[in-house]
Amino acid sequence: MGRSISGPNEGKTLVRKESWTEERYQVVVTHACSECGDVRREQSIRTVEANKTSDDIYRR
Ligand SMILES: [Zn+2]
Repeated sequence: MGRSISGPNEGKTLVRKESWTEERYQVVVTHACSECGDVRREQSIRTVEANKTSDDIYRR
C-alpha cells in the first residue's frame, strides 16, 4: 500500500488485508415495446462482494 512518512508509524509499511464473500445473483431485465407490446427478456449474472472487511497492519 505505502510507507508512512510521519507520525507514530513513521517508516513502517502499511499492509491492508481484505476479505469478502462472493455472492452471485441472476438478474432478469424485461424490455417491453410500448408500440407493439413485444416483450424481450435479458438474463445476466451479477457478482457482488459482500461482508467486506479490511485490516490495516503497519510493519517495519
Ligand atoms: Zn415494437
